[in-house]
Amino acid sequence: MKTISLCIKYSCLLAVIGGFAYCARNPYTATNKVYRQHAKSYAKVLRQQPGELSGANGVAAPSWVGTINFNIRKPSMVIIHHTAQNSCEQTLKTFTMEKTQVSAHYVICRNGTIHHMLNDYLRAWHGGVAKWGNLTDINSASIGIELDNNGTEPFDSAQISSLLVLLDTLQHRYNIPTANFVGHGDIAPGRKVDPSAFFPWHQLAEKGFGGWFKDTSATVVPESFNPLLALRIIGYDIKDSSAAIMAFKRHFMPADSLPGLSDAGKKILLNLQQQYQ
Ligand SMILES: [Zn+2]
Repeated sequence: MKTISLCIKYSCLLAVIGGFAYCARNPYTATNKVYRQHAKSYAKVLRQQPGELSGANGVAAPSWVGTINFNIRKPSMVIIHHTAQNSCEQTLKTFTMEKTQVSAHYVICRNGTIHHMLNDYLRAWHGGVAKWGNLTDINSASIGIELDNNGTEPFDSAQISSLLVLLDTLQHRYNIPTANFVGHGDIAPGRKVDPSAFFPWHQLAEKGFGGWFKDTSATVVPESFNPLLALRIIGYDIKDSSAAIMAFKRHFMPADSLPGLSDAGKKILLNLQQQYQ
C-alpha cells in the first residue's frame, strides 16, 4: 500500500523490475499546481456580480438581478497546428514555461498519445494575430490542437487516428460546425504555415471536419468570378492576397506549390464559394 500511495503522490510511472517497484516523479507536478491556482482564480471571476460601467458619464451603475437561465459559453472552432518542434516532450515543456506565453488545449504525439493541457472552456494562447471571417479573437472562440511534427515530414497515421477520435468528441460535445475546423495557416496567412501541406485535410473532410470541394470536372468558371471575394466568403483574410491564395492552396491543393491560381484552383474555389453562400 505504501508503494501505491507514493505512486499516487508522484503521478505513477511504475516499473517493477526483479520484484522492486520504482516510481518516477511527475515532472509537471509543480506546473499542475500552478494550473489549479489559475483555474481557481478564474472560478472566482465567474462568481462575481459585476456592476461597474467604464466611462459612465453620469449613468448609474447597473443594479444586479441575477438571471437563473444560463450556462457556460462554449468553443465554436477548432484550430489545428503542427508544433515545428522535434518531440512531444519538448512541446509539453514549451507550454508549461511562463516565458513562452504559448499554449494549446491538446498536444498529440507521433505515436497517437493525446495530452490534454487546458480545460476546453478556458482560453489557450495558440492563435496569435489571426482572422477568420470577421472574427479576430480566435483564441476566445476556439480549441487549439498541436500535432507533434517538425513541419517537413508526413504526419504519422497513429497521430491522425487519435486526432480524428478527438475531433469527433469535440464536434459532438460542443456542436462545432463542419466548416469551423481550420488550420493555423488558414487564419494567419503570410504569418503561419501550419499544419504543412503534408496534413491530410481531405481525410478529415471525409469525416466531417472542415469544408471540401465536390467534383469540379463539369465546372465552368464565369468571366465575372472574383477569386479574392470567394476567398473572403470562405473565411480567409485577403489583406495580403498572395498569402491568402497560398494558404488556400496549402489546405485544398497541397500538391500545387506554385504562386497564383490555376484554372483548376479557380474551379475548386468557385465550388467552395457556392457551398458557403
Ligand atoms: Zn500554429
